[in-house]
Amino acid sequence: MKIAFYSTKPYDRIYFEPMSKEYEIELHFIEAPCNEETIGLAGGCDAICIFVNDYLDKKRIAALKDMNIKAILLRSAGFNHVDIKAAAGAGIQVLRVPSYSPEAVAEFAMAMLLTVNRFTHRAYTRTRDFNMSIQGFMGTDLYGKTAGVIGTGKIGQAMIRILQGFQMKIIAYDPYPNPNLDVEYVSLEELFSKADVITLHCPLTKETKHLVQAKTIKLMKQDVYLINTSRGDLIRTEDLIEGLLEKKFAGVGLDVYEEEEGVFYEDCSNEIMADEVLARLTTFPNVLITSHMGFFTKEAMQEIARVTLENAKDIKLGRECKNLVSP
Ligand code: NAD
Repeated sequence: MKIAFYSTKPYDRIYFEPMSKEYEIELHFIEAPCNEETIGLAGGCDAICIFVNDYLDKKRIAALKDMNIKAILLRSAGFNHVDIKAAAGAGIQVLRVPSYSPEAVAEFAMAMLLTVNRFTHRAYTRTRDFNMSIQGFMGTDLYGKTAGVIGTGKIGQAMIRILQGFQMKIIAYDPYPNPNLDVEYVSLEELFSKADVITLHCPLTKETKHLVQAKTIKLMKQDVYLINTSRGDLIRTEDLIEGLLEKKFAGVGLDVYEEEEGVFYEDCSNEIMADEVLARLTTFPNVLITSHMGFFTKEAMQEIARVTLENAKDIKLGRECKNLVSP
């Protein structure tokens, strides 16, 4: 079995290369993302393997069908970047890695919250310059405050455990509440208006697109903290900027961004940043932006490689795969 492995980074090779030999699966590493110009590179392969910013619409899926591609292997839990209906219509199976390390993402979300609250990132650069002033770095105790968790799946639950460790009161919203969780489920409106910290852990769907927008920002408390480690499109960035200008937020941590495709995971430091919204966001002292790296731990990478290759093996052997994404 031969797989076209798009958006390859050096760290992917470290985990996938040795393991693919054990699975007797040939990986054709392609550094470029999967797009209109590069999709033809999958010719002669049985499947393609893509990451979160490789978008597959109807047209690209039709091209895969023409090349007789049998499967799309996602190195991610989220699958909003693939037209699942079109893939099913083309007879191409889509397989994902539903859970590799929810803790990795939740721990990173907490790191973002602690950073924007206590300014450790800015203190680091200040003290390296022997500027020992703490002016401007006053944070707030998380102890006893209310955290609002949107989406109580695997990552949301890991985040709840961490927040409970900080003795925070947890309120949550999920259209499918989990009766086994020790949290108070509330309506979305109530969550937005009561939480001191809002953390997003739901998937990107038609319902959740622009969940955070002018209308919902208006409901939020003054000096709220907002953390998004889920998907960029959950937030209408222009409205977030308005909210930041109105000084609504004490801190905002964004590991994902609406227009991250083509920018995140790339070194653009020598280029003129064409995305003015992203450029504007970086100017706020209370905004921390990271490059979609919540998942990035050794344990998660190991698990992503193992499950992706296990999914490939199911395709190779014609077995039913439990990680199939169906419309
Ligand atoms: P999951 O499927 O276990 O949980 C998602 C939860 O969201 C479910 O409980 C579901 O009922 C709930 N949900 C669905 N629609 C909702 C809505 N309209 N409002 C509120 N909740 C809703 O998924 P997970 O493993 O916890 O991952 C959550 C998301 O995190 C993924 O969809 C992905 O976008 C993101 N993610 C980010 C990274 C990263 O590196 N930053 C890594 C992995 C996953």
